Amino acid sequence: MVEGVIPMRFPFSFRDGCILVVIATVSAFGLPLNLHAAAPMVKSQAPGYYRMMLGQFEITALCDGFVELDEKLLRNASDSEIDGLLARMFVGKPKMRTSVNAYLINTGAKLVVVDAGSGNALGAALGNLLPNLKAAGYHPAQVDAVLLTHLHPDHIAGLTDAAGKPVFPNAVVYLSKAENDYWLSTIDVEKAPPAFRQHLEMAVKLVRGVAAPYHASGKWKTFADGNQPVAGIKGLVIPGHTPGHTAYEITSDNQSLLVIGDVVHSMAVQFARPDVAVSFDVDPQQAVTARQALFKHAAQDNLLVAGMHIPFPGIGHIRADGKEAYAWVPVEYSPVPK
Ligand SMILES: [Zn+2]
Repeated sequence: MVEGVIPMRFPFSFRDGCILVVIATVSAFGLPLNLHAAAPMVKSQAPGYYRMMLGQFEITALCDGFVELDEKLLRNASDSEIDGLLARMFVGKPKMRTSVNAYLINTGAKLVVVDAGSGNALGAALGNLLPNLKAAGYHPAQVDAVLLTHLHPDHIAGLTDAAGKPVFPNAVVYLSKAENDYWLSTIDVEKAPPAFRQHLEMAVKLVRGVAAPYHASGKWKTFADGNQPVAGIKGLVIPGHTPGHTAYEITSDNQSLLVIGDVVHSMAVQFARPDVAVSFDVDPQQAVTARQALFKHAAQDNLLVAGMHIPFPGIGHIRADGKEAYAWVPVEYSPVPK
């Protein structure tokens, strides 16, 4: 029988009818009616990058991964206050999943990355910056400048590979003079509390190791507070978390994005309680003061901000939410980078 010879008279063709008979027969013997095999699960994540435009600049947030921080690292609030704030935001405890982000900026003239991620220094859940940079359409050899917020391992270990070679072979690394001087000369590991000494020794060793090949080729450069290491990107030193901790103000066509580095380690706790410090802060009180001032400024001026440890992509706004308290409002995904 040829389909279409008897148009519109029967709801099924002869072939469909035959299939139905077969199904009815098969089901009569108790076999399943579902003719489709279940699709296998993919079990891998989507590439970790998020793209937006800032005036003429293209911004790409890069996901390095996440670290599980212990809530005991948070200071200036009771355990029950911390637990309450974490539970309210559905964040696990005692281990708080904490994003590690970096930001790639294409100014049209320069390709710049702010922070270099963890490389292979901090375990399997981190060190995804490079694959995500490539998934985002770039290659590390294209990067002209790496701007560092500070010299903690999750921000710099990705500067070199397992063999100690530069991951960004054509880039100049820029950091504030204060941060450079602290880690490469003034830090005195012997004066650190015994509990932190070993950790600090490892951190200093890592700093010197990743800096060495860039130093050797004259590509490790410092800048003073308020200078622009790259046109359109100003470094603003906000000491506290580390002595030369630096935010970067990126501006194009009167649009700005403020990359705030490690001003926030816990989205769930520190927006509601900016007075909560973290054990990694070199000067906790100074870090608290810096965070309070930055949140106030960002909320009053509707600043777009990006944070290295705010849930990926870590870009959004800060709004006032009561006295001395704030809330985080993340950007929304768009299939068109705007
Ligand atoms: Zn960090």
